[in-house]
Amino acid sequence: MECSHKSFSNKKATKEIFDLKFETKTSVCNDCGAYLRDDEYEKKYLSWLEQVYKDRRDKFQTQCHFSKKLIKCAENYLEDYPGISSTVFMRALVTIYLNIIDMDEVKSEQLESLLDAEIYESFQNDKDRKKINIQFKPNMMIDLIAVSEVIDMRPAALVEEIVLKLMTVITSQDQKLRSFWESEIKSYLDMFLKAA
Ligand SMILES: [Zn+2]
Repeated sequence: MECSHKSFSNKKATKEIFDLKFETKTSVCNDCGAYLRDDEYEKKYLSWLEQVYKDRRDKFQTQCHFSKKLIKCAENYLEDYPGISSTVFMRALVTIYLNIIDMDEVKSEQLESLLDAEIYESFQNDKDRKKINIQFKPNMMIDLIAVSEVIDMRPAALVEEIVLKLMTVITSQDQKLRSFWESEIKSYLDMFLKAA
């Protein structure tokens, strides 16, 4: 039978994120032991997170290494977007991938099946790399950590993979990939870059 959580005690709840610990008291059901993280708890958690964002900006960064060839391609692409740096561009790519493509099975399968392995591997195998730190907003970083935990990958490695995939789409001359880019990604990217 499902517990209807009728009587509570106030107990300490711990949550770990960014290798930091958030601890506060919350209601715990005396019968089934469920932690009932109420609005009060969520509010405290969000204000803790905002403080972490202020004090430890580094926790919201991923340190990536990209092929210099890839960075050059990104810079070429950005000639049409004056004032946008390649790190802002990469952050936009990751945001779009997680919110538009990864959520949608059809789109993500379509992307996987279309990807040009030759271009992808040429970026991946390029030994001439440059370190790039990409700064994320708290919500985005939380999404990123959640996805990377599911697929058991470091957030930075996940970011590298996403950027590689989308840069493969951008640089490919393949007609199907081009139209995937035009129909599924470009309008979102333009929107993000305009807002940046
Ligand atoms: Zn209960």
